[in-house]
Formats: sequence, structure tokens, C-alpha cells
Amino acid sequence: MTATVNADRVFHREIDRDYPMVDRGEGIYVFDSTGRRYIDGAGGVFVVNIGHGSPAVEQAIATQMRRIAFAHTGNFTSEAEQRFSAQLLALAPAGFSKVWMSTSGSAANETALKLARHYHLLAGKPEKTKVISRWNSYHGSSLGALSMTGQTRRREPYEPYLLNFPHIEPPYCYRCPFGKTPDSCAIDCAEELDRMIRRIGAQYVSAFIVEPVSGGPLGALAAPDGYFARVREICDRHDVLLIVDEVVTGPGRTGRNLGIDHWGVVPDLITMAKGIGGGYVPIGATLVHERVYAAFETSGTSFRHGETFAGHTLTAAIGSAVLDEIDRLDLVARAARMGEMLAAQLEALRDLPIVGDVRGKGLLRGIELVRDKATKAPFDRQRHVSEQVADEAMAQGLLVIAGGGCVDGVDGDTIALAPPYIVEPAEIQAIVDILRSAITAVAIRELAA
Ligand code: PLP
Repeated sequence: MTATVNADRVFHREIDRDYPMVDRGEGIYVFDSTGRRYIDGAGGVFVVNIGHGSPAVEQAIATQMRRIAFAHTGNFTSEAEQRFSAQLLALAPAGFSKVWMSTSGSAANETALKLARHYHLLAGKPEKTKVISRWNSYHGSSLGALSMTGQTRRREPYEPYLLNFPHIEPPYCYRCPFGKTPDSCAIDCAEELDRMIRRIGAQYVSAFIVEPVSGGPLGALAAPDGYFARVREICDRHDVLLIVDEVVTGPGRTGRNLGIDHWGVVPDLITMAKGIGGGYVPIGATLVHERVYAAFETSGTSFRHGETFAGHTLTAAIGSAVLDEIDRLDLVARAARMGEMLAAQLEALRDLPIVGDVRGKGLLRGIELVRDKATKAPFDRQRHVSEQVADEAMAQGLLVIAGGGCVDGVDGDTIALAPPYIVEPAEIQAIVDILRSAITAVAIRELAA
């Protein structure tokens, strides 16, 4: 596919790839400038939830624009910022009382990292600085967020700049790093957090950051029941803040308001981005539990942090309109229903010779592709099997998300799906049909190679 511009001035993500020119979006569909239609099975990249081209959002933009687009939050708060904050807090468990606005998922996680440090400083524990996270996680591209990220490929070029943060194994049941099976599982993956904190010394550990259901490289990996309850106990015992990264999972993506709601655990900080703007605006937010905020309030200390466009008035109005639409159309419940339908149809793909695992929750679903199903041996990463499947699906009119490195940071191929919550049953069927055809085409090629 070739862009229709000759003099391409954009420094693209993939240097050797030709990008089609997007033209417009409508519901779950994206159209390029040649008129080709794609099902947005990726929701952009875990972003588009109420669909493209929402008239309600268009209306909200016009209304706010007529009043004011931007007033600096150093001088003013706004009705839009207040309303949006209240809506975000209504999604969180009881006890969450404040929202710190930002402009992306990276910025929301960077905020959480600094907030946790500042909280411990106020508690007279200046040595509590390290944030533990999980291998193969993704928490963002800025240096603090990348230090917490456990994705080897993304970290590699910038290792010299990264903070010395420890990583533990994720709860990867398909390839349990502790050699357990569901019958023998004692949630060793959670105990690993306890061991890591003890090894480092709890007096040096500030926080543990975790995605409730992974997006990127792990392909919609969800933790076994009991994992988060145990993590919460361990964090409490060691005075370590629990940060839940809901950038992919919130709001509603997994069929609950937040991903962590599947396990009823209350974190200390919650970060959100992508879906709270529905793709209409770049946005991030860090939700703060009252016990964390109390440290600032009682000491009369302001959090020394901020971005020019944090709490941007128009942005907040747009986020508010997106959350209104999710509410009005009861889209969280719909994501749960459609998610079950998608899961059932994806299960049927297990008959394909390279589909090793199918996983996820709600409308966040993933497939792990393997060279040998009996041994679970991955493809050589040089083959770029997940990218081949994504390209094949795109050629057939479906957008999906390719992930790499789930096995050991290098090898491992996943495909993630995150369609808008407005997806219809017939469209789910179309998504799975195209995916089957794309995986089959790549399997024939790769198994013969
Ligand atoms: N956290 C998670 C779980 C993500 O998947 C991402 C982005 O993919 C981020 C954080 C970073 O968000 P952003 O790209 O908006 O900075």
C-alpha cells in the first residue's frame, strides 16, 4: 500500500513501510483515501471505544469551543475539568477522591511514579524510590515510564538512561515461569513480588505498577484469580503503593468499568488515558486514593509537577462527552456481552496449527501464535509472524495489533483485538473470519519455510 503523497515529510514509525492515507472514520470502520474500508478491530490501538465520528462528541467540541478552548490550570479550573474529574472518579472504587490530569498514558504513569515518591517523602521515607513492575509490561515511552516498562525491545536503545527499577515475571499461565499448572498453582507470580521487595529491602521500594489485563506484547494476558488480592496484601505489608495501569483496560474495555474490578481490589493510584478520550483527544489522568492525597492535604504540600496542557478545557469537555456516550449507550455492559461473543468465536481458532493460546477479558482479546502447539515453541522472531498476520488482516480489511517478545523479551508472537464497544454480532463474525483467513495464510507460508 502506498501513500498518495509523493513528498512524504513524516518520520514514520516503521522506516521501511508505506502507509496508506487515512480519509475518514465511521462507527467501527476506517476508510483510506482510495476508498478501502477497514474494520477497526484494534480500536486504533486500544483507544476507540464509542466508535469513529460520534455526533455527540462533535457537538461537545462545538459547544466548548464557543465558550473557551484553553485556560491554563495554573490560573483557572473549569466546569469541563470539574465534571470530567467527577466522572472519572465515579468509575473508580470508593475512596478515590482526586484526579491529576495529563496528556497521555506515559504522562499519567510518569505522574504516578512521581506522586508515589512524593507521598513517601511526605511520610519521612525518602529512601522509598524504586518502582517494581513486570517483564513484558508497557507503561509508556518517557524515561520514567520506560524504566517501569518491561518490554526488552523498547528499552534496549535507551538502557543507559533508564532508572534502575526491578522487574518480576508476569502471571503468564500458558508458559508459567514457575513451572506450575492450574492445579498446582499457588500464585507464585504474586509471591515473587514479596521476594523481590525483601531482596531489595522494603525501605527502598516505593510502588508496584501493574496492568490488570495486559495490552501490547503479552496479548491480553489476565492474571489468575487470587493474584491481585495477594499483591494488595504484599504491598500493604511493605508500605508499597499499588499503581494500576488502566491505560488499555479503562474505561469499560474488559466489560467492567476498570480492569481491576474483575478482582475487587482497591489500588492506591489508577492511571488512565487512551479510552477516556475515545480517540477524539490525547489525554491522560491519574486517579488518587484519599489516603495518598491526605499526605499532601495534611502537610499543605503541593505536588511539584505539571504540564501546559494538563486539564485542557476543550480536552476535558471531549473526555466528558466520551464518558457520557459510554453511559448513555450502556457500553460497558455491551463490551461484556460482545466480549463473550468474541471470545467464543476466537476459541474456535484453536483448530489452526499455529494458534497456541486464546485469552483476555471483555473486548480485549489476544491470541498467541506458536510454531509448535505441542511444545509451545515460538517462531523465530526474525520471521515477524505476528506482523505478517496483522499485514495480511489489513490487506483483507481488518486492523489488529501485532505484539512481539512475549516468551522471553525476544521471541513470541501475539495478536490483540480491541474493537469499539459498539461492534455488532455480525461484525464480530467478520473480524474472526478475516483473522482466521489471515492466520491460515501465514501458517501455510511459515510452516512450509
Ligand atoms: N500504559 C499502557 C498499558 C499502554 O498500553 C500504553 C500505550 O500503549 C501506555 C501506558 C502509554 O500510553 P501513551 O502511548 O498514551 O503514552
